[in-house]
Amino acid sequence: MSAAEERKQSIEEKLFTIRYKVDDISHLIIKDQNVCMNCSTKECNYFCPADVYHWADDMTHVAFENCIECGTCRIGCPDYNIEWVYPKGGYGITYKFG
Ligand code: SF4
Ligand code: SF4
Repeated sequence: MSAAEERKQSIEEKLFTIRYKVDDISHLIIKDQNVCMNCSTKECNYFCPADVYHWADDMTHVAFENCIECGTCRIGCPDYNIEWVYPKGGYGITYKFG
């Protein structure tokens, strides 16, 4: 694929180039759902490129299995209410290049 074609790839297409080995224990933890309840912007619902965070039924739901480990939520939550740890060895994602 040429560099120009590569640039045309959508984020959705790029997500399909990622392989996951999903752990059954979340590496993303909401520290305090009460903080989310009082969060007026719910920014995690917008900044995550993989739509991991979803506000419903008065709580933040975390689809951790979709995470592509970009690390944005470590700094993106205005209240630093997301605990982010690297998936334990062997789990998480691998990127295919080429
Ligand atoms: S941005 Fe942070 S505090 Fe607000 S809903 Fe998301 S995790 Fe909760
Ligand atoms: S690390 Fe990136 S992809 Fe994973 S949940 Fe946080 S913002 Fe979403």
